[in-house]
Amino acid sequence: MRVLIVEDEPKLAALLRRACEEEGMAVDVVGDGADGLWEATETPYDVIVLDVMLPGMDGLTVCRELRKKKVQTPILMLTARDDIDAKVQGLDAGADDYLTKPFAFAELLARIRALIRRNRPAISTVLQAGDLVLDPITRRVTRAGKEIALTAKEFALLECFLAHPNQVLSRTVLSEKVWDMSFDTFTNVIDVYVNYLRNKIDRDFEPKLLHTVRGAGYVLRTPG
Ligand code: CA
Repeated sequence: MRVLIVEDEPKLAALLRRACEEEGMAVDVVGDGADGLWEATETPYDVIVLDVMLPGMDGLTVCRELRKKKVQTPILMLTARDDIDAKVQGLDAGADDYLTKPFAFAELLARIRALIRRNRPAISTVLQAGDLVLDPITRRVTRAGKEIALTAKEFALLECFLAHPNQVLSRTVLSEKVWDMSFDTFTNVIDVYVNYLRNKIDRDFEPKLLHTVRGAGYVLRTPG
């Protein structure tokens, strides 16, 4: 977990850093808004703790600029002001949560954890056949724990096979599902791609998963 802290008061910044580091987070600290904006744009953080009152560019502007740049990292705003306007302004600017100074570090850490949890993509439906695993969110494919690099088309083809295990898929069905078109007269395109895929997922492994069904198409057989 990587956290960016944008806070200009050195003492508080140091305390925040220590609190987060004790939680096992990797922490970067910057002391003004412009640096915060730059860091948050350049580095993928899991959460940003952003003070509102900052020299130069204030926290609300940093927040708005980040959202404008499509940086969707969860932002926890910190402010000394506890009026409702400040809270509304922060949330309007695109912040995800809000904490008024002074606050307890336990509360800050709880809010950070909640933001990180909320931001995680929904539990992905990992597709699997034996020791072959495809994660549609990270787009990683492994077999027996070994990472397999696939092209976009090979990945789509494998995803299709894994979504229909033990089902014979004709070349026509594959072309429609994977290429979104029908290759009536060029079905060898499918054969070529199935061979690429087979070389990657089956050649160095046992048992073989992808099988040709003569005159019908291809099938991915789950072992056992
Ligand atoms: Ca400040």
